[in-house]
Amino acid sequence: MYLRDNLEYSNPESRGLSWDYSQEHLTSEKQSGLKLDAFSPKLFRKNAEIVISKLEKYLADSSIRGLALTNPDVLLQTAKDLMASEGEGIADEEKLAAIIDLYIKTGIQVHSPGYMGRQFSGTIPLAGVIDLVSSIVNQPSSFYEAAQLPNVVESIMADEFNKFIGWERERFAMVTTSGGSLASLTALLAARNDKFPQIWSEGIYGLSGQSRPAIAVGDAHYSISRAAGILGIGEDQIVRLPINQKNQICIEKVRPTLEAAEKRGLKVFCLVASAGTTTMGAFDPIDELADIAQEKNIWLHVDGAHGGSLIVSDQLRHKLKGIAKADSFFLDAHKMMFVPAPCTLLFYKNKEKSYGAFRQDASYVFEKKPDIYTEFDSAEQNFECTKRPLIMNLWVLWTLYGKALFADKINYLCQLTKHAYEILNSEADFQTIHQPEANLLCFRYLPVNLRESAFPDFQVAIRNRIREGGKFFISKVDVNRSGALRVVFMNHQIDTDHFRMLLDEIRKTGQELLNESKRLNELLCI
Ligand SMILES: *Cc1c(COP(=O)(O)O)cnc(C)c1O
Repeated sequence: MYLRDNLEYSNPESRGLSWDYSQEHLTSEKQSGLKLDAFSPKLFRKNAEIVISKLEKYLADSSIRGLALTNPDVLLQTAKDLMASEGEGIADEEKLAAIIDLYIKTGIQVHSPGYMGRQFSGTIPLAGVIDLVSSIVNQPSSFYEAAQLPNVVESIMADEFNKFIGWERERFAMVTTSGGSLASLTALLAARNDKFPQIWSEGIYGLSGQSRPAIAVGDAHYSISRAAGILGIGEDQIVRLPINQKNQICIEKVRPTLEAAEKRGLKVFCLVASAGTTTMGAFDPIDELADIAQEKNIWLHVDGAHGGSLIVSDQLRHKLKGIAKADSFFLDAHKMMFVPAPCTLLFYKNKEKSYGAFRQDASYVFEKKPDIYTEFDSAEQNFECTKRPLIMNLWVLWTLYGKALFADKINYLCQLTKHAYEILNSEADFQTIHQPEANLLCFRYLPVNLRESAFPDFQVAIRNRIREGGKFFISKVDVNRSGALRVVFMNHQIDTDHFRMLLDEIRKTGQELLNESKRLNELLCI
């Protein structure tokens, strides 16, 4: 109560409380025992300046570095030490600076050309600045009344993206969600409630005697089978559609697989296509899949977490051909549009169906008859009640730079990946696995003196040792159940020279491993 009474915006002086970091204020702090300096605008500026100068230095550092993986026990102790020094004469500013240093140092170095490991991106710095504004003004965006600009802006960005999709303006819908996994869960719920409306209230008991609901996938991200578990569909009811060499759903095998599933007592109500698989960035044939889905009354959900953003590029949009026929589609702007995580845009072809995901009555917040304000609310369409104004970072960048900021970078990264593929093809000791469709590339290092049975484990061993080396950060992935190296180019500062340096590092590391195994009489070498 004390806090409420004393922190009124209106005329703080009248209550003997100054917002200035001043003597007056300290007196009141003593009286109340509150740490009021934490609320001081002047101190805010001072702290922000400390942090911003650290970040400026961090952004300017283009050295090649991967990940300095710290022993968690050591890091735990370092963090505890920072906490324990309270009252021991270390100024808060020094402590703040030390915390920021530690935070930066122990992370993946997303802004360095040595970082090629994952789909998280180095963010466009201005997006971080706008994110700071969102953190201070704190406008949760599920309701218009709490976040007016973010809600209006969501509808603007929906229209901007729909220029590339091509739906009827009045009929489609877009909601933001905290990440792609939640976007898929939400869309799958909408699909399930559309095809099995009784489940929302009756649960799976409402299904007695019917075929079991099932979801068909290709090389889908794990969030889909997780969603199947959460929705009560059960992971066992995931129908795996055969995939081809290019990691895409094999279109000729879709009908027979769906028919076989039906014979087994399954009713596939949703087909999930990937627009950019996590493994290697492959695009499923959306156009053809949409025709089959329509014919069989199946909801088509397109997981564009990684590659959905290619829609802003005039050169690459064709990879999403047929997207207007999808029932739902999402993209992670925190991946290929380089804004802070999370920022996911989930689209529905049919606005009404977007309200079907969460059919529930919560009249204290949901207005029965929308007015001009509540029409902009998204609380009925998204899972979150309190939700960050996710769209703001993206909208500000879009407003200041237009789509070219994103399209140019995406084009560069995809082109770079093609060049990297050509380089690999010209090196006899490297094996390419696929022609890249986006900015993910899987390959293997297979020197002549390596025993064939050791191929998969060898790739994993190389990846781990390179990570320990701290210069490059790359990932590993299973392709056809066998380990492979994987790079994801998310940073436009990377060029082909960096990639050649990585290959040298892989060779050096691989030969080290082979020499060690020779000494230990292990079975890596021929
Ligand atoms: C990253 C990814 C996801 C998960 O998205 P999050 O935003 O991390 O929850 C889903 N699908 C694909 C294809 C992905 O690459």
